[in-house]
Amino acid sequence: MTLEVVKQKSRGFICVNAHPEGCRVNVERQIDVAAAQPPAGRSDSHPISNVLVVGASTGYGLASRIAAGWGLRARTLGVFFERPPDRGRTASAGFYNTVAVHQRAKKDGLHAASLNGDAFSDDVKREAAEMIRKEFAPVDLVIYSLASPRRTDPRNGATYQSTLKPVGQAYSSRTIDLDSERVTEVTIEPASEQEVADTIAVMGGEDWKRWMEMLLEENLLASGARTLAYSYIGPEMTWPIYRDGTIGQAKKDLDRAAGELSATMSNRLGGRAWVSVNKAIVTQASAAIPVVPLYMSILMKVMQERGVEEGAIEQIDRLFREFLSGDGKMRTDAGGRIRLDDQEMREEVQSKVSGVWPTVTTENLHQVSDFAWFKRQFRNLFGFEVPGVDYSQPTEIDLAW
Ligand code: NAD
Repeated sequence: MTLEVVKQKSRGFICVNAHPEGCRVNVERQIDVAAAQPPAGRSDSHPISNVLVVGASTGYGLASRIAAGWGLRARTLGVFFERPPDRGRTASAGFYNTVAVHQRAKKDGLHAASLNGDAFSDDVKREAAEMIRKEFAPVDLVIYSLASPRRTDPRNGATYQSTLKPVGQAYSSRTIDLDSERVTEVTIEPASEQEVADTIAVMGGEDWKRWMEMLLEENLLASGARTLAYSYIGPEMTWPIYRDGTIGQAKKDLDRAAGELSATMSNRLGGRAWVSVNKAIVTQASAAIPVVPLYMSILMKVMQERGVEEGAIEQIDRLFREFLSGDGKMRTDAGGRIRLDDQEMREEVQSKVSGVWPTVTTENLHQVSDFAWFKRQFRNLFGFEVPGVDYSQPTEIDLAW
């Protein structure tokens, strides 16, 4: 037992600790959203009973685990890489989120299991296969939601670092310096060919394919099994750094992998793979992309004013109910992708955002954008500034599931 009053510790903008109670309240709020409607109808052609989520502890992966568990009453195995508490040091937020998922699953009679380790490694894939064989076979749905700055490929031992840079030419844009809160002009030099290749190796489709090939080889997938990986497109103003940048090249590789996986899965067991394009939300991964925090701060103000804002759980709950449940017919765009970014990409939203974009300055930042919301959302990710939490109270930090 280690009871402590946990105060937020930061290094610049980044939080280096997490608040267990704040994380629990965040998870409970997401569960409330998913559980608010009656469980989605079971589809006989595409049941969703056993779900594997790779990257299940924060952001879109956590929302996927919650939507599957509390929206569909599915059994979930979550894989992620999180830091446990250690000698008075708090765990990472994703660790505490998972503790909260397990506590609530136990209370609600839902089956949930978790595996904490490097999902890129063969060891973790093998361990997941063992857990699935014992408790989750056959798996109907695999959600691949990893966001990582690096990957070690166990087949050649090489470690790749991903970068967030434009490709081909330098890119200049407005951005917020998150530490000084000043709106500045940033120029980012283009990535080298090696950096593009390395980013694809980390965030592209290779590891997703390895997970699915392993599950196929081990006969752990149900007939008609489906898999999804998450992507982002966003508006043209961010394309040089996102869609056409290094990360965008990795996302194109994900599209390619979806095509290859679909072909294999449909041959072997009548299954399919899709990429789902989701809306920009504040996560540890997205806050690290240059320019994007300023875009999100403006976007948030515009979407809130129009009452169309959605967080991770609202979108993923919609994904499970409107796309993955029911008759199994999938609505996709011309490129075969699921689109959950429809609200963000609405013409009226984007024209307002692009009208504000050239006018934003340090002085008017808080009038024309909701940067205060962005900061709060970011701290919420670590369990801080969460409404309803009394931060003066000691809280148990030495938790486990
Ligand atoms: P996130 O940082 O909140 O979550 C990343 C997850 O990956 C965590 O569960 C973490 O533990 C896990 N992870 C990282 N490295 C790992 C490793 N080596 N082994 C096991 N687990 C590991 O990120 P997110 O923003 O939710 O992103 C998830 C996916 O959604 C990404 O593909 C991202 O591009 C996509 N996406 C994000 C946004 C956005 O705005 N945040 C929008 C659209 C799509």
